[in-house]
Amino acid sequence: MKRSEKAAKILQMLEEFYPETPPPLDHDNSFQLLIAVLMSAQTTDKKVNQVTPELFRHGPDATRMATLEVSHIQEMIREVGLAPTKAKNISKLSKILVESYEGEIPDTFEGLESLPGVGHKTAGVVMAQAFGVPAFPIDTHIHRLAARWGLSNGTNVVKTEKDLKAIFPKESWNKLHLQIIFFGREYCPARNHDLTQCPICSWAATKKRIKQEMGSR
Ligand code: SF4
Repeated sequence: MKRSEKAAKILQMLEEFYPETPPPLDHDNSFQLLIAVLMSAQTTDKKVNQVTPELFRHGPDATRMATLEVSHIQEMIREVGLAPTKAKNISKLSKILVESYEGEIPDTFEGLESLPGVGHKTAGVVMAQAFGVPAFPIDTHIHRLAARWGLSNGTNVVKTEKDLKAIFPKESWNKLHLQIIFFGREYCPARNHDLTQCPICSWAATKKRIKQEMGSR
């Protein structure tokens, strides 16, 4: 099967599996979305959603967050991974937003990526979900699945992003990003397993890859 046919079939299946894609991280405004996405590195979305209600009660926007002590922020987010670093970045970032952006978040990749703790993936999620700009943020699920499905050679996330953007229509990117994540979470265990039993890998994975996975079990 050609890569383009495979992509079209995957798109159709994921649309059937996940017609709705509610944003996984709870937030009331784009500042809160940015903070939640920043915190989701090395942590589950579930854990982030457990700590954000208290954090956002004290710091609902950049102006209020900028007034909080780093130690207070750290205490409120202590259950997420890398809490000390994230607390420092949240405080610094909020102050920058107040000083340079009138408390709003920038609506460009460059502006977002210049903020402490905000990398390309975080910026992509915010551009997609807060501003509706087509982006294809690549997380570990998407990176791994793109390689398993034979849609990218998986050398690195930059290459995966480029390959997926080239085969999927631009208007599908934002929703597809979430659909692949939902599929990965529901179906894909981290460890090696039987690809022939999977609704997508059973037909999309290359024979070589199935052999590799089966051989290493
Ligand atoms: S076989 Fe299925 S469950 Fe496993 S990685 Fe592929 S898509 Fe995910």
